[in-house]
Amino acid sequence: MYDPLSNLDYRVPMALLPFRSTIARGWLAAALMGVLYFALAAFTIRFTRFDGGVAFVWVSTALLLARLILLPTARWGPPLLCCGVASVVATMAFGLGTGAALPLATINLAEAAAGAWCLKRRFPTIGSFGSLAEVGTFIVVAGIAIPAISALGGAACAVAATGTGFWSNWVNWFTGHGLGTITFAPLLILAFRGEPISMAREAGRRGVGEAMVLLVILTGVTGFVFVQTKLPLLFLPFLPMMIAVFRLGRMGAVVSTAIVATIGTALTIKDLGPISLIVGGDGARAQFLQFYLATAVLIVLPAAAELKRRRQMLVSLQATSALQQLILDRTSDIIMRLEVDGTIIYVSPSISRVGGYAPEQLVGRKPHDLVMADDVDAVVTAHRRALACPSETFIVQYRAMREGGELGWFETHTRATVDEEDRPTGVVSIIHEISERVAAQQELQQMATTDALTGLKNRRAFDLALGDVVEQVGANERPGCVTIFDLDHFKTVNDRFGHAIGDLVITEFADVLRSTVRGNDIVARFGGEEFVVLLDATLDQATVVCERVRARFEQRMIQDVTGQRVFATVSAGLAPIVAGHSAAAVLKAADEALYRSKHGGRNRLTLAA
Ligand code: GH3
Ligand code: MG
Ligand code: MG
Repeated sequence: MYDPLSNLDYRVPMALLPFRSTIARGWLAAALMGVLYFALAAFTIRFTRFDGGVAFVWVSTALLLARLILLPTARWGPPLLCCGVASVVATMAFGLGTGAALPLATINLAEAAAGAWCLKRRFPTIGSFGSLAEVGTFIVVAGIAIPAISALGGAACAVAATGTGFWSNWVNWFTGHGLGTITFAPLLILAFRGEPISMAREAGRRGVGEAMVLLVILTGVTGFVFVQTKLPLLFLPFLPMMIAVFRLGRMGAVVSTAIVATIGTALTIKDLGPISLIVGGDGARAQFLQFYLATAVLIVLPAAAELKRRRQMLVSLQATSALQQLILDRTSDIIMRLEVDGTIIYVSPSISRVGGYAPEQLVGRKPHDLVMADDVDAVVTAHRRALACPSETFIVQYRAMREGGELGWFETHTRATVDEEDRPTGVVSIIHEISERVAAQQELQQMATTDALTGLKNRRAFDLALGDVVEQVGANERPGCVTIFDLDHFKTVNDRFGHAIGDLVITEFADVLRSTVRGNDIVARFGGEEFVVLLDATLDQATVVCERVRARFEQRMIQDVTGQRVFATVSAGLAPIVAGHSAAAVLKAADEALYRSKHGGRNRLTLAA
């Protein structure tokens, strides 16, 4: 059993590690950097100090900058120290001599460190060269601004050590360091990031094969251009380089510039190629070559970055369109796009499930071809409001025709699409069928306003209707009357014949009422055996109608189960609707009149006093 008190160490024992520690590995890598730095510095100093001042070509800063960019700042010490030593030794052995060795090393290190620090500050993950902003910042900071400053120190050292001119040294340093960094740092950064390996893995065997063929062609073309000394064919390698960029992306860009740089430099040093035609000495040729190479990088690197951005956009666009397609396939809603003038330009396939139409049948038509005439206004208004307010969604409910001519209820959520200047270019709509919902609502509404026994309106519905009419009369509109009917001695009917016959009598009276008044009069069961009618008529006309109701009910032949006749009569109170009187006042007047009918012997109609 494990003893919890023992201090168990989960780490791998030191002895099993391939290196003693990450610190040791850091120093080993730094030493390798130092050796490489020395080789590049020694070579460029040895062969390109054409004027006896500073070197015309400088690649070492690109190397150190690339390394520092990929290391956290805390681990910059070892590479800086090793490259510093390398710089000192190279200057002492091949360059400006012992006196200038330390200041020059300091300037070189500061140049690389400042470049790396500035770039990492602006783009913490710099090094993929995946955006134009990143490429642009890299060129301005590491290729122009920092070399322009470090050249001041470099030129001063050269003046002190050799007595050559300050500004000629400044120019040579600036062009050598700037162009060298622009040309080689991107390649080195991508290489240090291990991107060639991951890209090759991603590309697969075919991709790698294609890359090889392209690069072999580029090598052949570049070799041809730089081996002949007759024609100024320097533009020719740009063609295969651009193809490499389009096919292979950023890796194509950096590998092809490296190929052109290597071949171009090697052959130009041997006095071959178009650059050796330049009059003005080795220095001018070296500077021209660097200028040429930096131009190549400036052409291909931004193009590669932009291509990458577009590829990413395409990938996300494809994902979005797949998602959109899935939604369109699965949804039971209809999605429509309309032009500003209402012409339908797109209908999702779901229209065939919901409306029975094929999408092509509707494209080119306008919604009012299908919308019920009464609702066209609402639909057009929603469309116009969406166009006027592109930031809002508008909702409209309407009836529209299905393929077979059958009407259904639909709800549309609509909003405008806009162009880059926020001008509406049309609308997009999501249409949902709501027929069931509307039917359920209508049923509820019906139940809430209807009396179950007679099918007449109930008291609530009547109160609403009376309220409306009273208001209209107040505004000097049509007159009207209210009559309350109450069946006479109804308790006795119930007692004699039973409740069921009582109910029958109530429905019979409802029938009499319904069939006697006109369609625009409102008839309601007020409760129990009490009814109320809102008549769209003058007092005289209303009197005639109500009297007719009373008489017809009296004569109505109602029988119980045994065939025995059930005599029933009704009393009524009639009141006109008077402007300025409330609904309650009108009802009260009618009720008082009814009371007088009852007291006057029943089975009669009394007018309100
Ligand atoms: P009056 O002539 O004074 O109106 O006498 P009435 O017996 O009709 O008196 P009242 O109006 O006060 O009585 C109403 C009776 O109607 C009471 C109740 O038993 C009966 N009633 C109320 N609603 C219903 C119903 O839905 N069905 C049946 N069968 N009877 C009802
Ligand atoms: Mg009653
Ligand atoms: Mg009664």
